[in-house]
Amino acid sequence: MNRTNIIHDGVSIKIYETDEPDKVIISFTDDITAYYKIKKAVIRDKGLYCNNISCMIFRHLVKGGIPVHFIRQISDREQLCRKVDVIPMEVIVRNVIAGSMAQRLGIEEGMVPNDTIFDICYKSDELGDPIINDYHAIALGLATRAELDEIYSITKRVNDILFPLFKGIGITLVDFKIEFGRLPDGSLVLADDITPDSARFWDIETGMKLDKDRFRHDAGKVGLAYKTVYERLASVTDNSDCDE
Ligand code: 5GP
Repeated sequence: MNRTNIIHDGVSIKIYETDEPDKVIISFTDDITAYYKIKKAVIRDKGLYCNNISCMIFRHLVKGGIPVHFIRQISDREQLCRKVDVIPMEVIVRNVIAGSMAQRLGIEEGMVPNDTIFDICYKSDELGDPIINDYHAIALGLATRAELDEIYSITKRVNDILFPLFKGIGITLVDFKIEFGRLPDGSLVLADDITPDSARFWDIETGMKLDKDRFRHDAGKVGLAYKTVYERLASVTDNSDCDE
């Protein structure tokens, strides 16, 4: 599979067209940014850890029957995916209160809500990805009521699969952000990577943060945190679709 034109030149991922029009190659970089790209750095091997973490998670989700864009891992930094029409909406799952929700509502980080919390945000750099509700999403034409129902249903299943997976490797899946896309036939698939860039992982025993918050808050050991998630996941998942 050869990569051709670049179609998305992001900070941590680049997306390339391939010689097959319905497939793309996603390539992970070592770059990291926070606070709307004001803070920037390069973390050695972050791309390798994030690609491998995301591939392991996707393989696990496929086994659990979740529709995904992921096809297979190509190399340590690249994965082959179905080309989708991405919906500009972030779906955030919160098992433990942290980050923006703690700040916005004045809740102490670490509080466990009675029930899992689902937020949706309109993906817009100019507007700063504002939090929206279902009515806004429908009014903005992002998704229909039926699609939103399906998105929430898939997202809940993703959380039901991933929370115990991470618990089994001594990590609390605090929260994560995912995105969805439409295949040419209109069907919805999970179309985003899940990595320590887009999720919060807390070590159950020590409470150590194993995610991008280490970078956001200058806590150091960012690479070590990503490597820890990678190594623990690798010890319990298989990588049978890997080309190399
Ligand atoms: P928060 O609402 O606290 O900013 O984020 C909740 C979760 O979603 C965190 O795990 C955070 O990393 C992830 N998240 C929120 N917005 C974005 C985003 O624009 N990009 C990425 N990669 N992750 C996000």
